[in-house]
Amino acid sequence: MYNISLITGDGIGPEISESAISILETIHDKLDVKTKIISLEAGDAALKKYSKALPDETFESIKSSDACLKAPVGESAADVIVVLRRNLDLYANIRPAKSYPNTPSLRDDIDLVIVRENTEDLYTGQEFIVDDSAVALRVISEKASKRIAKHAFNTAIQRNQKKRVTCVHKSNVMRKTDGLFAKSCESIANEFPDIQFDQMYVDACSMNLIRQPEEFDVIVTTNLFGDILSDESSQVVGGLGMAPAANLGDDFGLFEPVHGAAFDIAGKQIANPTSFILSIKMMLEWLGNKNSDQNSISAAQTLEKIVLQVIESGITTKDVGGNMSTREFTKEITNRLVC
Ligand code: ATP
Repeated sequence: MYNISLITGDGIGPEISESAISILETIHDKLDVKTKIISLEAGDAALKKYSKALPDETFESIKSSDACLKAPVGESAADVIVVLRRNLDLYANIRPAKSYPNTPSLRDDIDLVIVRENTEDLYTGQEFIVDDSAVALRVISEKASKRIAKHAFNTAIQRNQKKRVTCVHKSNVMRKTDGLFAKSCESIANEFPDIQFDQMYVDACSMNLIRQPEEFDVIVTTNLFGDILSDESSQVVGGLGMAPAANLGDDFGLFEPVHGAAFDIAGKQIANPTSFILSIKMMLEWLGNKNSDQNSISAAQTLEKIVLQVIESGITTKDVGGNMSTREFTKEITNRLVC
């Protein structure tokens, strides 16, 4: 039995969390991956209620669970996800972008993953006012850069596709920080002679993600660039509603959609829950690999296969061209989830 902590979030968070619960309960019943879901509060609503976006109780429950699912939170996101990433040392942010049929994907052969460093860069929040200027501190360490590079190369091996890692940076301008990142990736590349390694400036990468996204396999990059490029790559495969993510450390995993709370569509039952459902797929795969649990790995594969079948048969939410509600789309998936 896996204890799964679930942050239900703000905006469309509660709606897609309802989908997540129903998917996990169906997998529990039909695919025999036993889970206990612990629903937790964090985000804007929690901030209003407890004066803390990430209440201590929520943090403790997450820490003692086997994995965490996190729906998006609103304005207080930095006080929730950035704090969780740092305090749980979830150093690798994995953001796949894959074309699914019947979605507004740029091409039908895109299958790439962005491996984003998750703990450093401009996202550590070290900002100061000096006289009449605002200054942000950008920290890039050799240790964190090598750690994320290793993760990227291992991801390329596991994926067993193009066996290519592209290191994305801007070292021609940020010579010290991105220079160190690029050098660290180069040194790890030497340990993986079977994986092709190349480098690309971030501006060229953002262009190539539109021009020839099918060429990419694994992209490894720093925190801010990874955040931006992964929103772009999700749009390339049909939009934010299709984009899952994993935040991984050595011992813990937190899984969440790439998108934010999307307040503009909250409460209308039109949110696409695919991003969260595919995050569950990533969680089951991670739990399976961590615990040598083939059942969980198979459930992950089955879940992805069924999401694909449903979308292929033209059953989709509004954002990707269909007319299903969040609940109806989820029901189509749970109805097909059998051994
Ligand atoms: P953040 O900065 O927190 O990532 P954001 O301001 O970039 O958030 P999002 O909340 O991610 O914005 O959403 C951007 C737009 O994409 C939304 O306004 C919404 O129209 C659309 N969108 C995001 N997620 C979904 C979804 N799951 N289903 C349908 N549309 C979505």
